[in-house]
Amino acid sequence: MAQTRKRVAVVGAGWAGAITAERLGSHGVDVEVFERAANVGGHSRSETLNGVVYEPNGAHIFHTSNEKVAAYVQRFGLSRPYGHCVMTQVHIGDDDALTLLSWPPQLEELRELPVWPTIEKELAGLPDEPAGDDFETFVKSLMGPTLYDLFIRDYTAKQWGRPATELSSSFAPKRIELRNDGYRRLFRDQWEFFPPNGVNSVIEGVLANTSVTCGAELVLDDLAGMQADFDAFVVTAPLDRLLGRDGELEWRGVHLRSRYIPVERSEDTRTAAYVVNWPDARYPFTRTIETKHATGQRITGTVVSEEYPGAPARHYPIPTVDRRFEVLNERYKDEVRNVLDRPVYFCGRLANYLYINQDQAIEQGFACSAEVLGDLAGST
Ligand SMILES: Cc1cc2nc3c(=O)[nH]c(=O)nc-3n(C[C@H](O)[C@H](O)[C@H](O)COP(=O)(O)OP(=O)(O)OC[C@H]3O[C@@H](n4cnc5c(N)ncnc54)[C@H](O)[C@@H]3O)c2cc1C
Repeated sequence: MAQTRKRVAVVGAGWAGAITAERLGSHGVDVEVFERAANVGGHSRSETLNGVVYEPNGAHIFHTSNEKVAAYVQRFGLSRPYGHCVMTQVHIGDDDALTLLSWPPQLEELRELPVWPTIEKELAGLPDEPAGDDFETFVKSLMGPTLYDLFIRDYTAKQWGRPATELSSSFAPKRIELRNDGYRRLFRDQWEFFPPNGVNSVIEGVLANTSVTCGAELVLDDLAGMQADFDAFVVTAPLDRLLGRDGELEWRGVHLRSRYIPVERSEDTRTAAYVVNWPDARYPFTRTIETKHATGQRITGTVVSEEYPGAPARHYPIPTVDRRFEVLNERYKDEVRNVLDRPVYFCGRLANYLYINQDQAIEQGFACSAEVLGDLAGST
């Protein structure tokens, strides 16, 4: 007798949901994806304004050192090589004039600054290894107080809306560096790609053979009501909202104010780089983003976005020293499992209360689909 095909519902069509769905589908599972937004692609989506490709949710550069992930995305057309370099506009001392420097800071550029003698003295007095539980202590022990004030102090206060002393140092090693090797690219991963039109077409390609319903925001009651039709659920949605307790998990969000600017020649841009950091407190935004630098689009216009922190959006989990939101999120997972009779899997940044890059979301999709397939095989 022919075996009936297993059915899985996936909540969310960003990278994590799309990869999980595609992997399950390619192994003979019937998958249905439900997406709250009008389009697939999730947070990494790009849009166009007067024909100019831009990123309404902020800059998204694809980079990975995972060979399997790199090979996978190339299959779906994410393959154009790119090298991402970030610049920073700083005010040195009381000077109103702006100085454009690389981010991460490069010692060879810092040596040219009038404050170099002070910086040099501070660097000479640093411990061999940076240390400290809170962000400020850790970063000062890595680069000294002058560079901390110049590049980090105000940026961190703007970005997180709370003093750096209240933030865990756990995310500092990944984000903060002082470079002495002249390497200008932000990322050191083996593969870095930028799709000329943003990742939408890539994710659409991943989902080409999957049934997707857009404009469908599911809550826990919906999943409970769908149990007769599905053997398992994969959730990539935020759990406080899924449980009807929107906002209990705090996030730090950003809002982008994007402006179209006509330009004379099709190659013209308006800012120094795709991403420019503006750490100083006198600017309410943290960075400017001009995606045209990365797409290389030839068009007599450009879009410059200013990124303002403090928006009510789920972007950066708050890394409190006591990790209280991570703990709460784990409790929510148990609550969801307790309500549903079917197995439920949590995948991606929102359901796991995590900041992850796109390659990590894809890795989660691989791991999640493998786990679902293993469990479905065991349940036959
Ligand atoms: C400001 C910012 C900049 C970033 N820059 C980079 C970068 O340069 N490079 C990089 O690699 N990564 C970057 N990232 C990370 C990248 O955005 C994530 O890795 C990626 O979006 C994770 O995909 P996901 O599927 O987990 O989540 P998402 O893309 O958020 O997808 C979740 C999907 O679920 C849908 N959804 C939510 N709730 C429901 C519901 N109840 N029912 C149905 N659908 C629902 C959402 O609409 C969304 O489409 C950045 C992130 C942020 C916040």
